[in-house]
Amino acid sequence: MPRPIVATIHLESMQHNLARARQCTPHAKAWGVVKANGYGHGLERAMRGFAAADGLALIEFDNAVRLRELGWTKPIMLLEGFFDASDLQTMAQYDLNGAVHCDEQIAWLEAARLPRKLNLHLKMNTGMNRLGFKPEAFAAAHARLRALDCVGEITMMTHFANADELAHPGLPIREQIRRFQLGTAGLPGARSLSNSAGVLQAGELADVLANDWVRPGIMLYGGTPGGKSAAEFGLQPTMTLSSEIIGIQDIQAGDMVGYGSRFRADGPMRVGVVACGYADGYPRHAPLGTPVLVDGVRTRLVGRVSMDMLTVDLTPVPQARVGSAVTLWGKGMPIDEVAEAAGTIGYELMCALAPRVRVIEG
Ligand SMILES: *Cc1c(COP(=O)(O)O)cnc(C)c1O
Repeated sequence: MPRPIVATIHLESMQHNLARARQCTPHAKAWGVVKANGYGHGLERAMRGFAAADGLALIEFDNAVRLRELGWTKPIMLLEGFFDASDLQTMAQYDLNGAVHCDEQIAWLEAARLPRKLNLHLKMNTGMNRLGFKPEAFAAAHARLRALDCVGEITMMTHFANADELAHPGLPIREQIRRFQLGTAGLPGARSLSNSAGVLQAGELADVLANDWVRPGIMLYGGTPGGKSAAEFGLQPTMTLSSEIIGIQDIQAGDMVGYGSRFRADGPMRVGVVACGYADGYPRHAPLGTPVLVDGVRTRLVGRVSMDMLTVDLTPVPQARVGSAVTLWGKGMPIDEVAEAAGTIGYELMCALAPRVRVIEG
């Protein structure tokens, strides 16, 4: 028998979540973001789950090429663009769109001789200060691109820092939209602004926010980008990480559990040992009290997470035995709750699913 830990990917929920994104932004075309191996779900599964998307967007060249080899014929977009001049040949060969965010990239394009035109996404830095041209430099970059024979359509793009918090005191989304409108004034081409958080806020921002394309990621995988919970946003989990109890210890007051002996029992209790550890992608820093489901009953982590095992309090589940089902996250246990307890976000947990975990669909 294989080790009982397994990640179940719910393709129907992926379809449901994509439909939710379309409901939020009915006039925009949608890229399904499948970077980082489809946020840990597997590239090929993400391609099937988001078959109805208008295009797929990612960061990795090898996976972009793989999507073509797997038969994806709609647009593919590289969200960080290209990393040197030779990447342009790959983009032309496989018909890949890409972001353009700095002068060096434009210079590579100016020097390139390509067999076909590339559709590009010119990125503006509207305050996040990661990638992109400043609003005042944007029109000049746009003109340089437009002058090139190897450039097809130019989409104008920016990325929101705080779309989950409309009233952010430092950089409100409305300020980023204002800068984007200033920098793109009078320029032709489609616009692409919203990540999941922007898509989910589209109703609140209808007076200022217009997208021709949106770029939802985490919401498609049933995670919340912040603000409300995924369930409140009408999203369904797409990855359930489950395992089983493989051992039980009856301990007494004063007994300790695990490395560092960090947990000490107040009284007699049963501790369940679960076949799941940090080498499976479960966060090692998850503290005492992190929620876990055993036999459908909510209980808590006790003791440190080790490489291959973690330990849970079986007090609320007296019927638990070796072989009892455990849900670490997914259906019945929101990944965002586990992430929050562990001081991280659902994105990181999904992406960190380890290669040794068996993945099935269901
Ligand atoms: C990852 C990414 C997205 C998707 O972000 P989510 O918060 O997962 O929706 C959108 N746009 C760009 C440029 C990205 O890199």
